[in-house]
Amino acid sequence: MPEGDTIYRAARTLHRALAGHVVTKFESVLPKLTRVDFDSGIVGRTIEKVEAEGKWMTIHFSGDLILLSHMLMSGSWHIYRPGEAWQRRAVDMRILVETASFVAVGFNVPVAEFHTAASLARRSGFNTLGPSLLAEEFDEVTALTRLQSRAEEEIGVALLTQSLMSGIGNVYKSEICFACGINPFRRISALKKQELECLVSTARKFLLANVTESSGDGIVTYTGMRRTTGRANPEDRLWVYHRRGEPCRKCDTPIESRKQGIDARTTFWCPACQPTSGAIIQRSVAAG
Ligand SMILES: [Zn+2]
Repeated sequence: MPEGDTIYRAARTLHRALAGHVVTKFESVLPKLTRVDFDSGIVGRTIEKVEAEGKWMTIHFSGDLILLSHMLMSGSWHIYRPGEAWQRRAVDMRILVETASFVAVGFNVPVAEFHTAASLARRSGFNTLGPSLLAEEFDEVTALTRLQSRAEEEIGVALLTQSLMSGIGNVYKSEICFACGINPFRRISALKKQELECLVSTARKFLLANVTESSGDGIVTYTGMRRTTGRANPEDRLWVYHRRGEPCRKCDTPIESRKQGIDARTTFWCPACQPTSGAIIQRSVAAG
């Protein structure tokens, strides 16, 4: 599943290619979108900006029209030059936005809607987003307050709750807990303030480390590659995620995994480095 950093990089790539340019062609196989195209027209509008908000992407067109999309598990946006061969099958195309210089293609994008600024502000799931971890001025106080308001929630579930703070997906969830030495099944009420602060600051550090200029490859905007261990070998790029039964990189204890929360998202952790009692003082793991 694309996480906040992936959407952020995709939005940045689309923004650089499209912003300031006039739409010369718009296509979609999504019935909701084609209806708007007939009614008010996309061709001829100028793309003002492309932004990421948590895991949502917004493409802003002139005349108060905003295309809201969410990648969920399967979607991706690619940028091509006109006439360039696509790296995905044409049948997977859901949305196409073309200018004189570029073609942006959304493949398998499951959620896409047109909005005005007013309707977007009312859109459930979007209007309740918590502070964005990738925002230039991240609101850490609000994020901490919202986390603390869910005293009985397990921290591994809370980190994925986008209304508390936005941007963390299932991979980062496990990595962040490991980096802070915190068992993901502990309830928030059992966490010290400094442990919560470690989780929030580590989340931001990991996400920011993955949106540096050198971390994106510019053409394919979703790759799924992430760096949290600071090692060059892609096999070594994560601490615990998807490493069930493999030795912990710090203490050699086999990594465990279990489904967590009502959405049954798999959580990975080291039972030695992340005890349920929380007795171990927080540890710091450098990113990047
Ligand atoms: Zn360990």
